[in-house]
Amino acid sequence: MTLLEKVWNAHTVRKLPNGQTQLFVGLHLVHEVTTPQAFDMLRARGWKVRYPSRTIATVDHIVPTRDQRRPFMDVMAEDMLSALERNCREAGIPLLDLKSGSQGIVHVIGPELGLTQPGMTIACGDSHTSTHGAFGAVAFGIGTSQVRDVLASQCLALEPLKVRRIDVSGTLAAGVYAKDLILEIIRRLGVNGGVGYAYEYAGETIDRLSMDERMTICNMSIEGGARVGYVNPDQTTFDYLRGRRFAPEGDAFDKAVAWWRSMASDADARYDDTVRLDAGAIRPTVTWGINPGQSVYVDERLPRPSDLEPAARASLAEALDFMGFHGGDPIKGTRIDVAFVGSCTNARLSDLREAARVVRGHHVAPHVKALVVPGSQGVRAAAEREGLDRVFTEAGFDWRNAGCSMCLAMNQDRLEGREVCASSSNRNFKGRQGSPTGRTLLMSPAMVAAAAIAGEVVDVREMTDGH
Ligand code: SF4
Repeated sequence: MTLLEKVWNAHTVRKLPNGQTQLFVGLHLVHEVTTPQAFDMLRARGWKVRYPSRTIATVDHIVPTRDQRRPFMDVMAEDMLSALERNCREAGIPLLDLKSGSQGIVHVIGPELGLTQPGMTIACGDSHTSTHGAFGAVAFGIGTSQVRDVLASQCLALEPLKVRRIDVSGTLAAGVYAKDLILEIIRRLGVNGGVGYAYEYAGETIDRLSMDERMTICNMSIEGGARVGYVNPDQTTFDYLRGRRFAPEGDAFDKAVAWWRSMASDADARYDDTVRLDAGAIRPTVTWGINPGQSVYVDERLPRPSDLEPAARASLAEALDFMGFHGGDPIKGTRIDVAFVGSCTNARLSDLREAARVVRGHHVAPHVKALVVPGSQGVRAAAEREGLDRVFTEAGFDWRNAGCSMCLAMNQDRLEGREVCASSSNRNFKGRQGSPTGRTLLMSPAMVAAAAIAGEVVDVREMTDGH
């Protein structure tokens, strides 16, 4: 069996008459944006939260990343956080708030605190919950009515999924990162290629990736249409989890490891589909369009409508028109206005280290606004212990407090007008970063750092001599 089948079977409460499965949810991660109505729906029916002990909350989407004094200047943000505080207090749900030292983007703190563990089912009212699959968990992003269902019953009604194994071999070249690998996968398989599937990332390249890198890959599974993405748990996973706050301790940890190992896909597991990919051929990648599948290598030119099948020409034309680009243009040399290192895709300590390595000794181009937003208070503190904050501020970056920031711009960090943003986040949809006409170029944190310094899209390999 695959890991998906094993975890699915272990959490099945019953098969529903409509063909769905009622699945028990081991961990429900909660944040301020998708929960207020869900709690109100429970209240209206007189229902209680079924398992407060399997629920944990934080605040990330709306928090200001500069001035975090309460009450927030943004009245809506203040209302949302106040509602979450009240709901958690009434239901007995632990809240990792701004005073906790553990607050951060929900998909950064779950793993960081050892809440996310192999073999679990995890749900959260945010699309990028697939991040937690990096640990061999089956993790679903859910909508507000499903948040209500999980709060009330700790269960979800779900359609069964097929499993596609994405087998990656070869070594990522210097200057090429997990972000480039997942952008390549999405470019090849398409933004809807994963609909109906769970993606199992496997092969020697994935085996060698750190947990941070695996999280970057799994995080963007949803951008390829896959409901969940996962990596089989292995020694890298167990080493990461040992000693974390919510991980088992002592003998319980060893027992857990034995069970976690048993949940990995069997060597002779059967897959609904298998795709093979050579990581060695990938180059630093930049999106040029309005979905994460519209990308090119930094030394390539944008596609021309005439290069494509007639059916694909309309979406290409729409994307080029929105971005103000022309088919055949090089992406390299595209002037940027904003550089954003942050988000649940790429705001972990290793991401900040890579960005800082590029930035050290340079200065942000005069016309660029650059900000680094750590994924959690824990990441921020660790980065400051290493002096990364000074590297960034001396180079002219803003060093901010933890939150989602400009990834979704439900706070004060947002693009203005037609600004172009080099961003380490995960979505380049129209209006995603706050301005309806703002333009997002997705890339690795190192590439964002390089673009901030140069003031335009550059090949990070040329700035770091390929190291
Ligand atoms: S960083 Fe972006 S994608 Fe991740 S949880 Fe926050 S808003 Fe969602």
